[in-house]
Amino acid sequence: MLKVGLTGGIGSGKSTVAGLFAQHGCPIIDADVIAHTLVEPGQPALAAIRQAFGEEIMDGAALNRKKLGDIVFTYPLQKQRLEAILHPLIRTAIQAQVQQCHGAYCIIVVPLLIEAGMTDLVDRIVLVDCPETMQIQRVQQRDNLPPAKIQAIMANQASRAERVRIADDIIDNAFPDAALAEQVKKLHNHYLSLSTSRDNFTCEQQNHL
Ligand code: ADP
Repeated sequence: MLKVGLTGGIGSGKSTVAGLFAQHGCPIIDADVIAHTLVEPGQPALAAIRQAFGEEIMDGAALNRKKLGDIVFTYPLQKQRLEAILHPLIRTAIQAQVQQCHGAYCIIVVPLLIEAGMTDLVDRIVLVDCPETMQIQRVQQRDNLPPAKIQAIMANQASRAERVRIADDIIDNAFPDAALAEQVKKLHNHYLSLSTSRDNFTCEQQNHL
């Protein structure tokens, strides 16, 4: 199965685009959903986080996401500690979910694909791209966050130029009517044909063995 990593900055339109791919029946794996599930009460990752950060980040048996978020946002070393716990588990969970998928290709939504060094998990990268001013506008409207907070989040993410550099395909989401459905449909067809030619190539290779 062809594994397509879908990435982009906060508010670029990843969830919107993933929804459009899902309409074509393609399986969607979402690293954010995995990360949330991993820290639910009773999960081993939560126990590891509790041990590393202490009781102050807990609300009884549940994680106080806001407190942990504030700590890792303020102290880069604490962010690294958290990532050292979570990233290997997210990787393993993504790989396990890929094994369960059926179809020609799957979309793996990983907002921090570059930052978390997970590009090796995918065969191809599709980037949802828009100008940074537009990211801020969209997140402001969606989450009601102050622009300074959104800019601080963006400062912790890869730059637009870095993302463009590693992308195989780019979905241009720079306009209110960005013709997203058409762009996704074209890529869907492209991934179907890539998947078919990969399968044929693999068969040819096997025939030569
Ligand atoms: P991400 O998952 O990358 O954070 P979302 O898909 O949630 O981004 O999009 C951010 C916000 O912008 C959402 O409220 C979404 O509805 C809106 N949005 C995304 N693309 C467009 C577009 N082309 N035109 C108008 N609004 C959009």
